[in-house]
Amino acid sequence: MSDRHIVYISVGSNLGDRLQNCRQGIIALTRCGGSRILAQSRIYMTEPVDYEDQDWFINMAVKLETTKDPFELLDTIKSVQRAAGRKRDKIRFGPRVLDLDIIFFDDLVLDSDRLVVPHPRMHQRRFVLKPICDIDPTIIHPIFKKDMQSLLDGLGKDEQRVIEYQ
Ligand code: AMP
Repeated sequence: MSDRHIVYISVGSNLGDRLQNCRQGIIALTRCGGSRILAQSRIYMTEPVDYEDQDWFINMAVKLETTKDPFELLDTIKSVQRAAGRKRDKIRFGPRVLDLDIIFFDDLVLDSDRLVVPHPRMHQRRFVLKPICDIDPTIIHPIFKKDMQSLLDGLGKDEQRVIEYQ
């Protein structure tokens, strides 16, 4: 592995000041050192999926350059989430003050107990694909060998409302 990596991170919140939580989370990622933001998507309000009895989320995505390895980056993400006030999740896919997911780490394919990359549900989620397409719709998924725009176009039209935040 080279010592500089390109990473895409999905950022979300549906508790408290959702936009502020996302923005602070992104800043906190870079304050931990070794990482800088290269690009940021537009901001979206998104309908909850999987567990639907909760408020809509604010979601966005960032492209990061980092010298951390995947597990160091995961540790950083977890400490940023904790600092934002995230407790152990009571409900899987339930409300959260800040959610940071590693979507891609270069074109690494990794399946371990702690970390799965690419994120295993990203290709089914409009709230991930839409912001990533803002940054670069031509990224190729290293397992499915499809680009982001094709994965987004392949989702059912009426599912998972995603509205640009004004
Ligand atoms: P979530 O509820 O989606 O934030 O998932 C939290 C757990 O997923 C963490 O304890 C991580 O160890 C694990 N995890 C597995 N793959 C990833 C990934 N690609 N990005 C972030 N967390 C991951």
